[in-house]
Amino acid sequence: MDGQEQAGTATVERHEFGAEVGRLLDLVVHALYSEREIFLRELVANAADATDRRRFEALTDPSIGAVDSPAVRIVPDKPGRQLLIADSGIGMSREELAQNLGTIARSGTRAFGHKLAEAKPEERPSLIGQFGVGFYAAFMVAERVEVTSRRAGSDEAWTWASDGAGSYTLAPAERETPGTDIVLHLKPDAEEYLDPDRIEAVVRKWADHITVPITIARDGRDIAANEGTALWRRPKAEVSEADANAFYRHLGHMFDTPWATIHWRAEGTVEFYAMLFVPGSKPFEPVEGERRSRVRLHVRRMFITDEADLLPPWLRFVQGVIDTEDLPLNVSREMLQATPVLARLRRAATGRVLSELKTRAKDAADYAAFWTNFGSVLKEGVWDDAEHRAEIAPLLRFRSLRAPAEEGAPAEGESAKRTPEWVSLAEYVARMHEGQDTIWYLVGDDAAALAASPQLEGMRAKGIEVLLLDDPIDSFWPERLDSFEGRKLRSVTQAAAELGGAATAEDVSVLTAAMKEALGDRVSDVRATGRLTDSAVVLAAAAHGPDLQMQRLLRRSGR
Ligand code: ADP
Ligand code: MG
Repeated sequence: MDGQEQAGTATVERHEFGAEVGRLLDLVVHALYSEREIFLRELVANAADATDRRRFEALTDPSIGAVDSPAVRIVPDKPGRQLLIADSGIGMSREELAQNLGTIARSGTRAFGHKLAEAKPEERPSLIGQFGVGFYAAFMVAERVEVTSRRAGSDEAWTWASDGAGSYTLAPAERETPGTDIVLHLKPDAEEYLDPDRIEAVVRKWADHITVPITIARDGRDIAANEGTALWRRPKAEVSEADANAFYRHLGHMFDTPWATIHWRAEGTVEFYAMLFVPGSKPFEPVEGERRSRVRLHVRRMFITDEADLLPPWLRFVQGVIDTEDLPLNVSREMLQATPVLARLRRAATGRVLSELKTRAKDAADYAAFWTNFGSVLKEGVWDDAEHRAEIAPLLRFRSLRAPAEEGAPAEGESAKRTPEWVSLAEYVARMHEGQDTIWYLVGDDAAALAASPQLEGMRAKGIEVLLLDDPIDSFWPERLDSFEGRKLRSVTQAAAELGGAATAEDVSVLTAAMKEALGDRVSDVRATGRLTDSAVVLAAAAHGPDLQMQRLLRRSGR
């Protein structure tokens, strides 16, 4: 506690924000000013999340109690220039208020600041959602924010208050039932958000897909502001592209259009409605972050959890909802772990996404857009999912040494314009030489350096195509994909890459023996090779040892 003031009988504690929060507030308030209506989206989304969370926790914890009134209420008070957003959700304890609203939990301000600076203006609003700093958007429109909250399961309430300039206060409060009231004392230039029509327009634009009911107080009555319709349950033909896209943006905090929208209804061994999206751009955080799918599980429309791992980690870029009839509404966490229904949902959803990718892969240019964003995530599946490895292999794409060479070297300044070609394993196999039984690849840090590698001289001289693998994950998965269409995959750095014709072996035997002696334990052998045409020496990995790039990575990670 940094200071105390007596206010009536209650003690008000004053706390300084962490330095991070101060800078963040500044960033949010200034960088996003032109889009400031999104404060409402963020606060309503938080209130809806809290309501869902309470419902779910109440299933297993009797002290939580059922949600009294499930709606999120928005109440404008024109004379007082105040806007109230109230929910009957899980609420926050004193510690949670300080932790959730006084510090930055998820990501550093610096990373956020960087991204904001890089982002196009229209991308900025989605960033605050992705970085988990939505609450602070309130300070774009409010000169003072008061949050009164009572945690479900407790009878204490607390008020957190701040003017967004350096500090906040915490004081004991009263609240009859669990939940949270957020009162915004609006800035003079933000009075438009007291107009029920304006509020409704914002809610419809941003929050229409929230399944928790949202009401706006108008002339003393609460009017429903969102449809709350489960879009995914409507027949596909009745869902417009605009609606689907809006739902996608809401789900993933994205601002773009999805690359794929997969909307279907399954009847059979398991019944469900699903609406899944492959993003049209790479999100800033999730791909590198947590390695798990956040596809939402609903039971008969009701949100249950986004931790059911409905898709494998290598499809974690897919966003969306799966809504099933085959689980009871009061499904508990324990039951979720034990039920065979989840395995069926997973199998069906994974198969459907893979078949969508397979179809779209037929259009190379279209598929390239997907591959650039998420190819490296998909490749993880070859490494760690034996069941789907064979299905993923045809979806892989590579840079290849052949493609640019055959087109002829680009003229000066032209290279930037030309999009390099992506090659599939099937295409590679189709143009293999007569008698070639191996798919050759070379792993390294970037395709340009790889293309110039002396490792390739022999291959190039013989006109053999080599796949250039320049993604960090490429050091791992090839080891698990032993072959494709019956052709072995081999790295050219492995000594088995001898192409025959080592005619000079005899002539240099004295030299190799001397080198071997000089290098001692540092090498396992020194041999003459037919792999080189211009360079004098090349490092090679043992035929059955780890690939060279793999050795480099292992060294870097201290193994
Ligand atoms: P995010 O929602 O992405 O976590 P926010 O800045 O929007 O980030 O909110 C921070 C945290 O504050 C939330 O994760 C949640 O724990 C808490 N919170 C915010 N609003 C509410 C609310 N109405 N009820 C309960 N908890 C809330
Ligand atoms: Mg939020």
